[in-house]
Amino acid sequence: MKRRTNLHTHTNYVDGANTPREMIESAIAKGFISLGFSEHAYCAADPGCCLTPENTPQFYREIRALKAEYADRITVFLGLEIDGLSPFPTFGLDYCIGSIHTAVSPDGSIWTVDATPARLQNAIDTAFEGDPLKLVQAYFDRLVPFLIETKPDIIGHFDLYTKFNEEGQFFDTESPAYQKIVLEAADAVLKADGIFEINSGAISRGWRKTPYPDPFLLRHIREKGGRILISSDSHHADTLDTAFDLSVQRAINAGFTTCWELTENGFVEAPLV
Ligand SMILES: [Zn+2]
Ligand SMILES: [Zn+2]
Repeated sequence: MKRRTNLHTHTNYVDGANTPREMIESAIAKGFISLGFSEHAYCAADPGCCLTPENTPQFYREIRALKAEYADRITVFLGLEIDGLSPFPTFGLDYCIGSIHTAVSPDGSIWTVDATPARLQNAIDTAFEGDPLKLVQAYFDRLVPFLIETKPDIIGHFDLYTKFNEEGQFFDTESPAYQKIVLEAADAVLKADGIFEINSGAISRGWRKTPYPDPFLLRHIREKGGRILISSDSHHADTLDTAFDLSVQRAINAGFTTCWELTENGFVEAPLV
């Protein structure tokens, strides 16, 4: 079955290229049956790339108005991508994505992991004693308690810091030490029963040729009975369905036969193909 929905969608309210209406029009043109908006929620600890307290109500109003206007053509959902650095209330939303984009160093400073390869390297060198695994541990030390406490519907890009690591430039993802950190984090998070996303956002931005999470992690999630969802983490009207076929194949390779989708009646399990 062709995937005809995406719940991880950004707009020009923050760092996306297009208006919500343009994203909806593109989704309709692509044959989507639904589209969810998950703009970056206000993050008080790191307010550089997110909604503000002032424009958040406007974002809610606009998405709800579009939901009504387009109701006979496509189902629109209002969500937010909440950052675990400083969670934002989710009252009144159709769903939320919980994620993190930073690692906090032992002295409390905040380091973005997904901006550029140079900034990732600088964070490892400056704040984590040149040890990539210390950055990974710090990332999960913040992410895991947030996911367990908040229980978001969707767990966003679980291993986001691998955005620039397709050739192993920063992390040896085959190493037992690395996999131990990641799998312990996954096991803790699996208890919260969120849906892990297979995310192709780094492909549309030209950083990767394959989606994350890493195959070993996806296999582990499947073996533990975890749930998945396919998303494009789209920031542009043209990329709403980027590499969905690759993401589906990655899921199949890990042993999945189904994924989860949001409907008016909540999340439902759907066949992958
Ligand atoms: Zn994100
Ligand atoms: Zn996002």
